[in-house]
Amino acid sequence: MNISPEIIEDIKFRNNIENVVSSYITLKRAGSNFNGSCPFHSEKTPSFTVFPATQSFYCFGCGAGGDAITFVMRMENLDYISAIRLLASRSGINIPENISSNGKKEVGRQRILDMNKEAARFFRDALFDEKVGKIARDYLIEKRQLSPSVIKHFGLGYAPNNFGALHDHLKKAGYTDEEMVVGFLCGKGKNNSVYDYFRNRVMFPIIDVSGNIVAFGGRVMDNSEPKYLNTSDTPAFKKSKNLFALNYAKNHCENTMILCEGYMDVIALHSAGFENAVATLGTAITSEQARIFSRYTKKVVISYDSDQAGQRAADKAFRLLQEVGVDVKILKTEGAKDPDEFIKKFGKEKFSALIDNSKTRFEFETDKILAKYNINDMNEKIKASNELCAVIATYPSEIERELYIRKMSKIFELPTQSIQRDISAIIKRKNKSQKASLMNDVYRTRSGIGDRINPESASNLGANKKEEAIIGLMLLKDEHMKLGLEKLSTNDFVTSFCKRVFESISNIYKECGKFDIGYIQGDFTVDETARITKMLTERESLSINDTKTLEELISSLKEEKNKDDEDSFDSILKAIEKKKK
Ligand SMILES: [Zn+2]
Repeated sequence: MNISPEIIEDIKFRNNIENVVSSYITLKRAGSNFNGSCPFHSEKTPSFTVFPATQSFYCFGCGAGGDAITFVMRMENLDYISAIRLLASRSGINIPENISSNGKKEVGRQRILDMNKEAARFFRDALFDEKVGKIARDYLIEKRQLSPSVIKHFGLGYAPNNFGALHDHLKKAGYTDEEMVVGFLCGKGKNNSVYDYFRNRVMFPIIDVSGNIVAFGGRVMDNSEPKYLNTSDTPAFKKSKNLFALNYAKNHCENTMILCEGYMDVIALHSAGFENAVATLGTAITSEQARIFSRYTKKVVISYDSDQAGQRAADKAFRLLQEVGVDVKILKTEGAKDPDEFIKKFGKEKFSALIDNSKTRFEFETDKILAKYNINDMNEKIKASNELCAVIATYPSEIERELYIRKMSKIFELPTQSIQRDISAIIKRKNKSQKASLMNDVYRTRSGIGDRINPESASNLGANKKEEAIIGLMLLKDEHMKLGLEKLSTNDFVTSFCKRVFESISNIYKECGKFDIGYIQGDFTVDETARITKMLTERESLSINDTKTLEELISSLKEEKNKDDEDSFDSILKAIEKKKK
């Protein structure tokens, strides 16, 4: 641990958990706690609880939990140190640069951002180099018809067909091999040789809303695979949390944003005057990205390729965007495979009309089904109506469902009551299977099956319950903490996860004379921190948490350990030796 406990304490004191959480979601008071809808999973009834007394949160639905720091880590997808920095800056606390959670000097975010800027310059110069960049200029200017001003606006470049050009350039600029590898500009080969990751590709810098170059996307200029290569997650970049061209679109998207599939679509749309276009980064949309949309706009128009992959991705985008409360529509670039081709063929006015006539998900799905089946044929009509009922059943709002049922009744010439009944049956079945899978999850967690955080809990159920109760009690009261540290040692614990937790707690307590979950987070993942918080929350909800309970648990855990020892290989050997004598 490199940030002093005093600073962490100060940060947590000035960022109380109720305030931190309620800057993201709405909380309602429930007794001495607060409830809200969990931001980490989709739910209808709030199971997310904030406990002011212990300054922690826990979701009874998905098991997310922790303190203000963990909350920010999860919410903003940050590592421990970055979350501390964010909270510190919110409350005016200064934290020195170049600190890491494991004491090593890590490649910091700022260093990577500076290196990316240098790399972007290198790619740009390569693009405009008479000889080296000709192939890429031919592609961008001749084939894709981009103007030099558009190329400049988006900072496009070219990664030469060379294994060491960028590496040599960055080395001269003072960057180390490690920084290039961590920043995902170079890969590491056999014998630790370092090589350029992007080669013979047109380069698209990905710029965040503060104007930093956080990553790159590289596209091939022929039909080779992979078509796109993107920076993986680095200390400066999380793929699932960024959108291409959001830095420009953010000022033009209050009413509507256009979601495209590829970088070239976005660039084509921007140059045609649709500056509210963005794209996800090579992958299908994530729920984090959906949340970004909800922060910037009220309505999203999806403009994906008309091929099958594009349509499947559209289904997911519809679902995730709807979940965050954004109004979603979709447009079809009839007569062209993507928006870029459409605008080249038919012009931007026609594209504007496409946006105006974009369809709701219901209309989109209905069209799809009607194109697939001939509803004048009895059998096909049944299939079609079943499929559309399944679509309507996915809408959570009853009013919305009612409206679509009426529409469907007209199209299919069927009475609304029978459609209604079919849909209710689908919803009932779905709820039943959801409940079953939830129960299954609960059962699996209770019995420790499939426990990724503490895999040893399944084979040590009883002992694990005791060790978790002990840790929970220790975290609850300082006197319990002292008692536990005095009577127990790491080896009294059974599962290696609880051993680690105890060891970490006792080290910190020895070092600082006090303890807070915030101090150990650097040593644990967010999911592990959630588990530790759960131990605390579970104790908190019980009325009997006195010293006697703790003492009993401690001696019972020690007995458990002895039981184990009797069966151990060593003790069996000893018993055999005894018999021999
Ligand atoms: Zn949850």
